[in-house]
Amino acid sequence: MFKQLAVGLILVVGGLACSRAETLPGLPSVSFNWVRKAGQYSPLAAKNVRLEGGFWGPKMQIYRERTIPHSWNYMDYELRSLRKAAGEHPDGPLNNTWGEANLYKLLETVALSLGGHPDAELERKVDGIVELIGRAQRPNGYVHAFITNEGKPEWDPAFLDGSHDGYVLGHLIEAAIAYEANTGKRALLDIAMRAADEAWEHFLGPAGKPGFCGHAELELALVELARVTGRPRYRDLALAFVEWRGRGLVTPFSATPRAYFQDALPVRQQRNLDGHAVRATFFASGVAGLALALDDGDFRLAANRFWESTTWRRMAITGSTGPRAEHEAFGEDYELPNNGYYESCASCGLLDFAQRMFLLEGRGETVDVLERGLYNAVLHGISLDGTNSYYQNPLSDGNRERYNSWVCCPPNLSRTLFKVGGYACVAGAQEIFLNLYVAGKFEVPLTGGSMGLQVETQYPWDGRVSIHVTHSLPGRIALNLRWPDWCESATLRLNGEDFTSIKPNDRGYISLQRAWQTNDVVEFVMDMPVRRLVAHPLIRDCVGKVALQRGPVVYGFEGLDNGGMAAVVLGENPQFRVEDRPDLLGGVRVVTGQDAAGHPVTAIPFYALANRGKSVQEVWVSQPGASSGDAWWEGHLYRPASEKTTTKASVTPKPARQ
Ligand SMILES: [Zn+2]
Repeated sequence: MFKQLAVGLILVVGGLACSRAETLPGLPSVSFNWVRKAGQYSPLAAKNVRLEGGFWGPKMQIYRERTIPHSWNYMDYELRSLRKAAGEHPDGPLNNTWGEANLYKLLETVALSLGGHPDAELERKVDGIVELIGRAQRPNGYVHAFITNEGKPEWDPAFLDGSHDGYVLGHLIEAAIAYEANTGKRALLDIAMRAADEAWEHFLGPAGKPGFCGHAELELALVELARVTGRPRYRDLALAFVEWRGRGLVTPFSATPRAYFQDALPVRQQRNLDGHAVRATFFASGVAGLALALDDGDFRLAANRFWESTTWRRMAITGSTGPRAEHEAFGEDYELPNNGYYESCASCGLLDFAQRMFLLEGRGETVDVLERGLYNAVLHGISLDGTNSYYQNPLSDGNRERYNSWVCCPPNLSRTLFKVGGYACVAGAQEIFLNLYVAGKFEVPLTGGSMGLQVETQYPWDGRVSIHVTHSLPGRIALNLRWPDWCESATLRLNGEDFTSIKPNDRGYISLQRAWQTNDVVEFVMDMPVRRLVAHPLIRDCVGKVALQRGPVVYGFEGLDNGGMAAVVLGENPQFRVEDRPDLLGGVRVVTGQDAAGHPVTAIPFYALANRGKSVQEVWVSQPGASSGDAWWEGHLYRPASEKTTTKASVTPKPARQ
């Protein structure tokens, strides 16, 4: 039996103006005209998700069993430094200005892992380190062992752009929040709060002086700390760090341009997200977080400008940003060379920015970007065995091996990957968003209790998703299924009943509102053909070229599979087949076809490139006649090769304004 499915728009938008005023010394008051509240939507905590089977179950097992143990090998410098700062006399070299952040990123990774998979021994190890951090903390609350050991001043005004005090403290705070949320232990949170109080006193206290750390991170962490603890002073400090930018308050240590640390202009005047791509994406997350925490329309506008700047004009098809090696920076609009720099940490930063933009705007296209970055740039950053990484993630590369570049990226990648459950499922009061389709069990807290879901899927290899309600609550609950940007057609079945003519609402979701019963089953099946994509005509490196994508997975050609050559030339009307290769690269679907000369060619997922030793790699390959066409490109970066108008689905659709 077939039925037309009425897809309801259920998200609450707009509303009454809020007139609460916030002021900081010497700054304009903030205007409020919008009512989105922090906490209206909440990503699921790691303890409420258990990823099992499918694509992510085996990967998470690798990250638990190999990545975390491997990561401890690189913590010696950090632990020695903390012991010295605690008054001990350890032998051996100590860390540098930013190294301590790596320990905190690892602690956050472990905390998220413990949430889904308790491990008493691992937890004891962390408890011991927490005790050490407590001993290294100065009586006034400041904790950054490098500064203490070097005898340098706290928040040194002559080195604020380079000393990383705030970057380190931000990661300490994020680790502390995750550890408390997933173990119930608050010793690290107490340490983080004392450190944040010291920062508040230093900058906003009676003798406080304006300034901010040049590596953004503390802003987004303070917003979270305010939400978790209910103490607005942390949000106020984050606000000050953002507002003080662009006012000449920090003296650069070197000749580095102010845009490098987002200090070229006041935030309300910044049109684009510029500068060091990691700092910039972290900064943008802080701005989006403040927009939520303050119901601030100006910050909401700024966050949206940064979002459009990045995802409409400055993002590779893999979800990477920051193509310039010089200053590890964003370039101009459409400056997206295939051999660009594209640091892993910038992709991690973009995912968290995308998550906050979803919490802010409730729109599926922010998750489209999150998914693009996750399945491509972020997964490419870590090797399949979980122990090696890439600092850079170019789309065109030759004979470069992965290595243990234990700088900043590996623990950033691991903590990002342990957030997949929280990216996948977001809860509102009486609504659930399934944003990513990942196999596992979800315990979703709602008003008055929780709803249990079990998701079975092989996504991204297959567009079939089965959602089983394991228990529910009385009353109508909206289950919102994200309709991905790449998906052009799908079918839906509810308890065996087929629905046709389904289409997403204007936020990009199928919204199923009903009184759910235990054992209800939803089957959502997305057609997942191989697509050839063309790029915006101003992306010079992609002119005359196409990239292959299936579902959210971008493919690349590796010399190993293609007679030593990756620079494939496709025929005029290439036909592709998808092959399941459980034996290859941890189990992948490869795309096979023929080049223009009739020779067989094979593409593998971009994320799996360079896992079999050195090999040349290409994502964008030539195809005679490939053209960006005459379509209107405003708000678009990549779209199907056959698409000639703006009426069909595109990869980065322009969001409709509220
Ligand atoms: Zn990095």
